[in-house]
Amino acid sequence: MIAEQAKGLGARTICLDPSADAPAFRVCDEHIVAPFDDAAALDELCRRSDVVTYEFENVPGELLVELEKKYDIPQGFRPLFDSQDRVREKLNARANGLNTPAFAEVSDRESLLKGIFDIGYPCVFKTRTLGYDGHGQVVIREPADIKKAEPYFGTPAILEEFVPFDYEASIVMVADGEKVISFPVGQNIHRDGILDLCIVPAPQMTAAVREKIETRSREFMRRCGYRGILAIEYFVRGGEIYFNEMAPRPHNSGHYTIEGCDTNQFRELCRFLLGEPLHEPRLVAPTVMKNILGQDVDSALRIESERRPEVYVHLYGKTVNKPKRKMGHITFVGLNAAGYERWWAHRFV
Ligand code: AMP
Repeated sequence: MIAEQAKGLGARTICLDPSADAPAFRVCDEHIVAPFDDAAALDELCRRSDVVTYEFENVPGELLVELEKKYDIPQGFRPLFDSQDRVREKLNARANGLNTPAFAEVSDRESLLKGIFDIGYPCVFKTRTLGYDGHGQVVIREPADIKKAEPYFGTPAILEEFVPFDYEASIVMVADGEKVISFPVGQNIHRDGILDLCIVPAPQMTAAVREKIETRSREFMRRCGYRGILAIEYFVRGGEIYFNEMAPRPHNSGHYTIEGCDTNQFRELCRFLLGEPLHEPRLVAPTVMKNILGQDVDSALRIESERRPEVYVHLYGKTVNKPKRKMGHITFVGLNAAGYERWWAHRFV
């Protein structure tokens, strides 16, 4: 999706991915098949590019820091570094004006028991690195749940207060060093720890909470001095917002912007990379984004064949279909949460 927008802005793209059938290779002009930690391949990618970005969080820092000295990687390693470890990420969020759930560093039974003593039940155990979509997470509601965390003992982890949130929300921003733009805040509904729906405007959100998310997030971006794209996920409870996590790349919850806004997260990232002025986005109509997981592909194909106006089916062309794997998304423009429930929810298992 980045490559599509780059093309629309007149740029040629080269993409590195470990799999030879990566969907991006069908869109970009040139490609390199190599692991994300292949130093020589990453150097080649940079050498053949005028400007470089990433949309994968686990590019090793020791490689990226060196490449940054030689090549133009305008987002740099900082926002990746700050987000690659859940403890560092939350300390950084707190240091830059955001509220987080209470947390403790844990790594074994003793530190976990101490953490539970300090934080109380219920709480959430998560590995510090490489966790996504609920992987490496255990909700601890009572002492009997502690054994579920045992397989992770010895791995650096974090224990967080369980936030009984009313709902989850996220914001995507792009900054160019002077200006920060932000896309309309979405309300996110997860299923099995995976994003299922993003609804914009967020149906349960008051104007005061929206304003708080926008102001604090932009302020955070400025204080951190980040340039490029950043998404932040929050838990919302009453009038309070809790930073959950961030990602310095286009975000799944921002996919709705392709049709739901007058400019999208991929295009603004590309504008930033190309040194063009950023556009402040505007929502064109209420929009619902539904993620298509492996088990939803057949429904998505049927919906696509109906060719309804304002229903945009994106299938990424991944060759291996597995249940729970993100295979695409559908954007419904001009639809709200009630409309989705009424007209579309039953089409998915
Ligand atoms: P994460 O990978 O941290 O985004 O967690 C995946 C999902 O688990 C979140 O989107 C929430 O639905 C839930 N979750 C994670 N941390 C907490 C928490 N501290 N309190 C309540 N729910 C949580």
